[in-house]
Amino acid sequence: MIELSDVRKVFPARRTAGEVVALDGVSLSVARGEFAGVVGPSGSGKSTLARLVNLLERPTSGTVTVDGRVLTDLDAAGVREARRSIGMIFQHFNLLDSRTAAGNVEHPLELAGVGRTERRRRVADLLDLVGLADRHASRPAQLSGGQKQRVAIARALAARPSVLLCDEATSALDPASTTGVLELLRQVRAELGLTVLLITHEMSVVRAVCDSAVLMSEGRVVDGGPLAEVLARPDSALAAQLVPAPA
Ligand code: ATP
Ligand code: MG
Repeated sequence: MIELSDVRKVFPARRTAGEVVALDGVSLSVARGEFAGVVGPSGSGKSTLARLVNLLERPTSGTVTVDGRVLTDLDAAGVREARRSIGMIFQHFNLLDSRTAAGNVEHPLELAGVGRTERRRRVADLLDLVGLADRHASRPAQLSGGQKQRVAIARALAARPSVLLCDEATSALDPASTTGVLELLRQVRAELGLTVLLITHEMSVVRAVCDSAVLMSEGRVVDGGPLAEVLARPDSALAAQLVPAPA
């Protein structure tokens, strides 16, 4: 479960003296096990939202709650602990190039102090889960984009998170790899009971996998709800984006 309540995030502007309001009073609720999409134009605050849920940033005001734990109330030790229950994958995979597929998946387990035997066992299970058991010794440079994202998913799942954040995770992939990665995400959601927050600019991806979606604009949630409801509302701004205009 992910809950944001009236969250504001203000950054100092990068080039000028002023400030940037990245999130301007966002409230959002994603139920446990739900697959939720976040769409909106560039700069509307999607990545900032994910970074708040992952504790990479703190809100200027408002609260972020994951599985009943109010992240905004935690101290540094609490943040480290809570972060383990939240996995994240990215557009450019962010794998360690010098490590093999297995080495990448093992990395967070090393950081968490998991013993060697247990690490090896879990890495083998995870690579099996994402369909890459036979590529355990390959380095990222030897893998396709879709395979790299599978390694990144295995790594994100290594700490057994309850929430998986996906920021444009299929945007660098061709259609076939995109379909494969989405199928894998649905499978792990079902098998592990994960809550998934999926940020994307690809409306076909939202239609293919999401139970619900929100549309962001200028730091606010301007539309959203269960996908079936959204699509049934003729005046919905989100539905207008999801359904391509007739040619
Ligand atoms: P995109 O679709 O291009 O990835 P986005 O919806 O993910 O866009 P964000 O990256 O969340 O948008 O950015 C929202 C706003 O906050 C933008 O105006 C951005 O420039 C600003 N912003 C984000 N991070 C910072 C930062 N660390 N410092 C200053 N401004 C920032
Ligand atoms: Mg972004």
